[in-house]
Amino acid sequence: MTEIKSLVEPILSRYPDRRSALLPALHLFQQLDGYISDERAREISEVLHVPVATVYGVRSYYSMYNSKPLGRWHVQVDTNIPALLAGADKIVTHLEKKLGIKVGQTTADGLFTLSTVEDLASCGTCPVIQVNDRYYENMTVQRTSKLIESLRAGEMPDMPTKAHWASECNILLRRRGMSGARSIETYRNDGGYQALKKALGMSPAEVLAEVKNSGIRGRGGAGFPMGLKWSFLAKNTGKPIYLICNADEGEPGTFKDRQIMEFDPHLLIEGIAISCYAIESHLAFIYIRGEFAWIAHILEAAINEAKQAGILGPNAFGPQIGCDIIVHLGAGAYVCGEETALIESLEGKRGNPRLKPPFPAAVGLYGCPTIVNNVETLANVPYIIDHGAEAYRQIGTNNNFGPKIFGVSGHVQRPGVYEYPLGVPLETVLEAAGGVIGQLKGVVVGGLSVPVLTAEEARGLKLSYDECLTRGTMLGSGGIMVMNETTDIPRIALRAIRFYAHESCGQCTPCRQGSHTIELLLARIIAGQGTHKDIDTVVNLCQTIKGTTLCPTGEAFAVPIGAYVTKFRSEFEALIS
Ligand code: SF4
Repeated sequence: MTEIKSLVEPILSRYPDRRSALLPALHLFQQLDGYISDERAREISEVLHVPVATVYGVRSYYSMYNSKPLGRWHVQVDTNIPALLAGADKIVTHLEKKLGIKVGQTTADGLFTLSTVEDLASCGTCPVIQVNDRYYENMTVQRTSKLIESLRAGEMPDMPTKAHWASECNILLRRRGMSGARSIETYRNDGGYQALKKALGMSPAEVLAEVKNSGIRGRGGAGFPMGLKWSFLAKNTGKPIYLICNADEGEPGTFKDRQIMEFDPHLLIEGIAISCYAIESHLAFIYIRGEFAWIAHILEAAINEAKQAGILGPNAFGPQIGCDIIVHLGAGAYVCGEETALIESLEGKRGNPRLKPPFPAAVGLYGCPTIVNNVETLANVPYIIDHGAEAYRQIGTNNNFGPKIFGVSGHVQRPGVYEYPLGVPLETVLEAAGGVIGQLKGVVVGGLSVPVLTAEEARGLKLSYDECLTRGTMLGSGGIMVMNETTDIPRIALRAIRFYAHESCGQCTPCRQGSHTIELLLARIIAGQGTHKDIDTVVNLCQTIKGTTLCPTGEAFAVPIGAYVTKFRSEFEALIS
């Protein structure tokens, strides 16, 4: 117990509330032991002073925690839609053959456990395999064989990743590819932290006004105006104000935030520091998905550099005022991308969304006023302050201002990330990605949760929040999944609903039961055992579920699944015998 205490104490000391140490403590002991035994869970409960039931509840909620020992190498293959379009199923079959086990099993020698996982946010470089904490991207059958041979020999090999990217705006991906881009020296030499300096010469209210006037809309998916969100903060409560950077990038088709954190961490840190100053917060959290552990290390290194340079810390904004940033790892739960679920998770609980109101701006983390902004949103702030709101409004189109990173995956020649002004034609982005392989059949432009567009509907589409709405879809996160004529739409719909059924937190019956019922019906149709009535039932269920759930997850599957079935109904009907 003394040993556990000494390991947990440094974690506890980082947080204003000891409850927040639960997820980091579970991560720590899983790393040490390979899993979290019941005995370990009881010990953690004692040290943290939380009920053992809470520890068990948290351990079972998050998919990254193991309650049983696994093989030395945990080989996990992402099989979500972009990976499926890139041939991930062939990798799974190959691994099953090569290891002589099925998914979910461990080899007799205890070396390998094989699993499939939901979305590792590598849609531009998939198929992707995660081995323990490490990603192996651009996987082929040959590369997979090589990987397994190295692991058998006890070695985690280095396997280069080939990623495609381009930037027309030169703002968010500006330093991508620059040598030493992660270092504070490179960032400063390129003009970094000048915006923070400028902001500190303004009043917090002036900074807030500048951000509001820029018209920037949140890049997490909803497109809600950032300045307006900030202005909702409860005033004079006497409680601390918190800023949370939402880096829980888990929407299938989306892999943009990691580009900023991985390749230009100081851009995000500067955005957070300016935002903290504007909303008068002295503590920010970066809640980053657990699978991005290595990116968390990059961020922590950059935060330490900024602290050493006096940019972050207790006096960074003036005598006795400044801000600190804590990087906090999630543990594999899609729903934690929803801001109230994220707050619950940060408080060391299961990531169950809260009933709103109250909204986090009034009652958020530890009951205090809290702002939750996405990585890409915060990374825009230095440009806004440096160049002014007017200059920012020159980028993009009316009411849709600024640069946007689009992640393109699926059937294109060069899947990757492409930065353009909002309002750019879809065709331009697809051309940058090398063009569609074959004939375009359908495209999803905002991540898995938005309705698919047929090739005809997508023609001439401009990628802005407003125009996407007029075309019956949403820009969402800007994750563009391209499907050509070879795509089996019923199979895509089934894979999509499996994801949501797996991720539903279970609080609402329409989401919990609805997702499983739709999955069952689609599986039956695909197996050739369905009826026309089953297709109608899926469509009716999707219509019924809309608007009946606590958080947007219900709608996030009901709308896109409804769109797959209604827009491509003939493909579902062809499966009815
Ligand atoms: Fe949980 Fe689904 Fe309800 Fe959201 S909609 S709170 S994920 S059950």
